[in-house]
This record gives sequence, C-alpha cells and structure tokens, in this order.
Amino acid sequence: MPGDGIGPEIVAEALKVLERVAEIGGLELEIEQGLIGGAAHDAAGHPYPEATREQARRADAILLGAVGGPQYESLERDLRPERGLLGIRSDLELFANLRPAILYPQLASASTLKPEVVSGLDLLIVRELTGGIYFSQPRGIEQRDGQRYGYNTAGYTESEIERIARVGFEAAMKRNKRLCSVDKANVLEVSELWREVVERVGQEFPEVELSHMYVDNAAMQLVRDPKQFDVMVTSNMFGDILSDAAAMLTGSIGMLPSASLNSEGVGLYEPIHGSAPDIAGQGKANPMATVLSIAMMLRHSLNRNDLAERLEAAVGRVLDQGLRTPDIHGDGMQLVSTQGMGDALVAAL
Ligand code: ATP
Ligand code: MG
Repeated sequence: MPGDGIGPEIVAEALKVLERVAEIGGLELEIEQGLIGGAAHDAAGHPYPEATREQARRADAILLGAVGGPQYESLERDLRPERGLLGIRSDLELFANLRPAILYPQLASASTLKPEVVSGLDLLIVRELTGGIYFSQPRGIEQRDGQRYGYNTAGYTESEIERIARVGFEAAMKRNKRLCSVDKANVLEVSELWREVVERVGQEFPEVELSHMYVDNAAMQLVRDPKQFDVMVTSNMFGDILSDAAAMLTGSIGMLPSASLNSEGVGLYEPIHGSAPDIAGQGKANPMATVLSIAMMLRHSLNRNDLAERLEAAVGRVLDQGLRTPDIHGDGMQLVSTQGMGDALVAAL
C-alpha cells in the first residue's frame, strides 16, 4: 500500500529489493497493490475503503509507504488520510509496535549527540499501539462549571498489558536479555497496574533482567546515555514520544523502519517517517527505511530471519560504498536518487 507523497517512490524501490531477496531465498510471494490514505480517498472516496480492508485481512504482511499531504488537510476528520492508518491498525488489532533505533556507523556524524554517546547504538522500543489514552473511554469536550473541559482516559486492561509485556520479554530474549518497562507509577493508577502485570509476566522470563523507569527519567536517560537500554516496553503515548526522541539519536529519519504486529503474527511494516510532501516526486527520498521495514517483515511475519539479515547486510554494504540520498549526504559521498539507491541495493544483494 504505497499511499501518498513519497510513498509510491519508496515502495517501488523497496518492492524491487523484496523481489530480489525473495528470488535469492526461494521465497514465493503473492504481492497485491492496495489503496490507503489520500490515494484511497481520491480513488474510492475513503482513506480505508472496504476493498483495502479485505486485502488487509487476507494478507500475511502489509508494506505501507506513507499517508497524508497538505491537499487533504481541509477534509473532515474521518476522511483524512491518517484515519486510514488508524483504521488498519485497529481493524487488524496491531497492538505491538516495534521501533528499532539503530545507528549505522557510516552515519555517526548525522546524530545530534556526541559520537561516543551513540556509536553502536542499537535499541528497540516496544510501544503498545491499540489501547491507552489514545483510545480509552470516556473522552470528550464538554461544559463543566461554566467553561469547556477536555478530557481523555488512560486505561489498560490486565490482558492488554500482559500481551504487550510478553512481546517485550520475547524481544529481549532474542537480544541482550535486558528489558526496561517505562511508566509513571508514582502518579498514575494505570501505571501501577502496568508495573504489577509486567512483573508478573517477568516471572515467565527469569533470564531477562527487568527494570522499571518513570517516563520523565526515561526521556532524560535516552538523550543522556541511550546505550544503557536494550529493549524498552511502554504504553501508547509514552512510546509515541520516546520513540520519536530515540529516532533522532540516529540522526536520519530516512533510515528507520517499524513493525506493528498482532497476536497472529500478521504485521504492518512501514518507515517511521511521513509522506514528505516537500520532496515528493523529485527522486530525493531515501528508500532505506522502507527497505529495512521489509527486513522486519521477513523476520517477524515471513519467518525468514536469514533473508532479513541478508537485506540488512546489503544496506550496510551500500553505505560502505559511500552512496547517499540527500538526507544522509555528506563530504566525500556519492549522491544518488531514490531509484539509484534501490538499484544499488539490488546489486549489493
Ligand atoms: P507525518 O505527520 O506524516 O509523520 P511529518 O510532518 O512528521 O509527517 P515527514 O513527512 O516525516 O514529516 O517529513 C519530515 C521531514 O523529513 C521532511 O523535511 C521530509 O522531507 C524529510 N523526510 C521524511 N522522510 C524522508 C525520506 N525517506 N527521505 C528523505 N527525507 C525524508
Ligand atoms: Mg511525523
């Protein structure tokens, strides 16, 4: 589902790469194109049309480009492109959002932090995506004591906490066996429950070293010494904020993938960046974040870790060759277009 803005350009390159890696690995894929976001609104009158819903429901994995653009800002809320994204997330119950923040050594100078603080950075934020304050009832804007009052509710059920905690522990088991759960248990009852349930799930994973941190401290620690973290697990809103902060530590929004998974292993894979209308159609977009999202797809939905590693190695090789799209360009490097980067990745594979 290419979507809007630079979506179609980066997805086209990522699909070239996927087809090559599938060919190498003897992986048989049936690929369908789907409409989402503004593109779907233009063609079918809705950002998440029924036909797309049906495609999504029968897919093992979905690759999404990006949605949104200035031409859609005047649409009513329910027809905006972003609603397409919320629609597919809740429809498929994609409750676990995985956002790795990895600093490629070749791009160390792009970080906002000192090289010694970020070199070798490789952390994973596991964010709960379908519950918490963004979705809980009651919510609204109403009249109270003679003035307007806006409110939301930050609620989680035990089972919602349990399943996201399990994703966090399982991810930690596959990595360095350290999990930091982020909450605000000193102030919020919902966090008190969160902490209790995470502790309980932790008993199933005695090998994982579990720690807890208040979200304000976690924000500070992320920019002070991010390498102290391996896997972080947190609620929807805290994860939204912390993962954007973590992304900037790596300096390059064009390099960062994400996965959103449900309990059946079906996943939606997309770059963390948006539709970048300022550079759309100019061949300037970096397709790496989308390509790395495919690596996550191979790992989490298609059970081909071998091919995921191969793809990630190809990304490293192309960076070693000095090829750069404008967002990561620097002294002595060779500037390439979106398509040039896709071609180089295929060649590296
Ligand atoms: P959204 O609300 O959809 O997340 P946004 O307003 O946060 O969008 P982006 O679309 O992510 O913004 O773009 C932010 C900046 O990063 C823009 O200047 C854009 O050109 C740049 N950018 C985003 N993605 C890429 C990419 N893949 N390659 C190069 N530059 C990018
Ligand atoms: Mg954004």
